[in-house]
Amino acid sequence: MPPADEEPSEEDTDAADLLVVADLVDEVRVLDERPRYHLSSCSWLAGRPTVGLPVQEARQLQFTPCALCGPDSTLVSRHRARLRDASP
Ligand SMILES: [Zn+2]
Repeated sequence: MPPADEEPSEEDTDAADLLVVADLVDEVRVLDERPRYHLSSCSWLAGRPTVGLPVQEARQLQFTPCALCGPDSTLVSRHRARLRDASP
């Protein structure tokens, strides 16, 4: 088993972004028995077995975003870019 490293702190997501995240289904990664969810690129995940699920569901299951990889701000800006690209 990997050593029980310290948990990364929680991303400070602003209220407007939280509303957006609650509706997103982009995939984030979680670890068993750990409170944070991460982007698949997060360095903290290296070598750990993770499970993927939609960020909306991670939120509903009371997971909180990792401050190292900042999944909320990343997914929200990705979402806003998609909206921009979709407009004529
Ligand atoms: Zn992370």
